[in-house]
Amino acid sequence: MRWKNALINTIRETPKEAETVSHKYMLRAAMIKKLGAGIYDLLPLGLRSVSKVMNIIRQEMNSSGAQEVMLPVLSPAELWQETGRWAVYGREMMRITDRHDNQFALGPTHEEVITDLVRREINSYKQLPVNLYQIQVKFRDEIRPRFGVMRAREFIMKDAYSFDRDEKAAMESYKIMFDTYNRICKRIGFKYRPVEADSGAIGGNMSAEFMVLAETGEDTIIYCENEKCGYAANMEKAVFAKPEPQTAAEEPLTKVHTPNIKTVGELAAFLGKKPEETAKTILYIVDEKKMAGAVMRGDREINEVKLKNVLGANEIRLATPEEILEKTGAPVGFAGPINLREKGIRLAIDDTVAGLKNTVTGGNEQDYHYTGVNRGRDYQENLAADFAKAQKGDRCAKCGGILNEQKGIEVGHVFYLGTKYSKSMKATYLDETGKSQLMVMGCYGIGVTRVVAAAIEQNNDENGIIWPMAIAPYEVAVVPVNVKYAEGMEYAEKLYTDLKAAGVDVIIDDRDISPGVKFKDADLIGFPLRVVVGEKNFKDGKVEVKLRREKNFELADKDAVFGMVAETVRREKTVDTGALR
Ligand code: ATP
Ligand code: MG
Repeated sequence: MRWKNALINTIRETPKEAETVSHKYMLRAAMIKKLGAGIYDLLPLGLRSVSKVMNIIRQEMNSSGAQEVMLPVLSPAELWQETGRWAVYGREMMRITDRHDNQFALGPTHEEVITDLVRREINSYKQLPVNLYQIQVKFRDEIRPRFGVMRAREFIMKDAYSFDRDEKAAMESYKIMFDTYNRICKRIGFKYRPVEADSGAIGGNMSAEFMVLAETGEDTIIYCENEKCGYAANMEKAVFAKPEPQTAAEEPLTKVHTPNIKTVGELAAFLGKKPEETAKTILYIVDEKKMAGAVMRGDREINEVKLKNVLGANEIRLATPEEILEKTGAPVGFAGPINLREKGIRLAIDDTVAGLKNTVTGGNEQDYHYTGVNRGRDYQENLAADFAKAQKGDRCAKCGGILNEQKGIEVGHVFYLGTKYSKSMKATYLDETGKSQLMVMGCYGIGVTRVVAAAIEQNNDENGIIWPMAIAPYEVAVVPVNVKYAEGMEYAEKLYTDLKAAGVDVIIDDRDISPGVKFKDADLIGFPLRVVVGEKNFKDGKVEVKLRREKNFELADKDAVFGMVAETVRREKTVDTGALR
């Protein structure tokens, strides 16, 4: 590309709306342009990186035996009604009505559409397994679109869906996708971690997110510091080793007057105890119907995703002060497990509470708590399970090591679905004996545009982006310092033409402007390699070759530059992913 002809209007100032580095640099480096909240134009440079990500994904998906399709963005409401998701998807789904009053979703994801296709196309075990994917635009009316293309309302996703004969085969498909995602992340050059993720009502460990490690990430990862162990999970899913049950002799249950005590800290201080010697009871409304009490050790927090799962609920929310007063007879802050079930409230206790002896709980009466509370003797729960948030410093449940926390950006998600969709949509096939069976599914997403933003979050400095070679909009920038210096320009032109002919993505900065501006732009956009042809050096037969990530340039012999550059590009793009091709 010749810069003179390119649509690259870089911006000097930091745009006001940019909160993260990637957002700022994507705007400044002329990769994206905002059209509306969470809606962006992809400019030529942006699209080049996005296309490279797409190509890597395509190659790896194809090499894993998946087949590419393209499904419509418009999907009829009837399909979503079959699975019930027309009602439950809520306001994140963009909906439109056509001239005949038919309703459609602008696809936020495509399980329904693909399952409909496959149930019509596939009838026999002989046609399975099949894995179909597409790279396409998705619509989600996010509550808070932000960070540019990182959390947009219209964005590009690669979504894949596998269909298998049975669970075992479906697990195999899942495993293949898990490996494929690792190869994709490696080729892009990410520092990343696959982590166990919440799989909601489906259960099991068969959901993993691919997290790009970055301080600015919206997700929190819990991981074991023992590298041999390798345990890592999304905060929503993370577990930790539970404390040993206590063995102290049971003290008598005592009702204590605790006026004006609101928090666990105040209560513990008032009674001369530690927060971990208390248990708090939080009241929730489950699926807008029933109330449940969740009892957690005083020093720990509830993980609401885990709680929702153990309660078998679709939705939970905190009960309001009015609901609490009405149902328990006490204002907020005094709920406790004793006699709670008698009030028709389901009682769930966390594993950290199960082994406590002589703990302190609310009294279900204004200004009263109990001390000397013992499970079994004083109350009996409906269920005891793990719904505590894991935290830094906890012990690893797998190996006993120390757990730590880090931030990540979720770029991909692999998910074992089982028969969730095939059942409600009757996607069946005939097995060898002619019996009708449900197909077993998996789904696998990668946020293509988010990948590009995540790569920038991981690779930048104060001057701009530092692209990994694999997804740089151009791999090499050839910069003749002064376009009026004929010999230098001639050399630069030839280098440009030769590199292009050799398959290198190269741009020549043929603008007649100050070298300072050229260098600033090159740094901001972040081309991995820059070749500067300046008059003084060139007269000595030398040309500057600089890697963007390095501080200093190399003064190379002008005749050696072509080979050097072509080889560097080739080397940096080649990653041994261990894939069988
Ligand atoms: P998040 O928790 O970030 O909202 P999600 O769980 O809703 O993500 P999936 O439904 O699993 O995401 O979608 C697959 C991939 O699509 C995600 O891993 C992410 O990379 C990408 N993605 C999801 N929502 C957005 C968005 N609003 N903008 C850009 N990319 C997105
Ligand atoms: Mg989401």
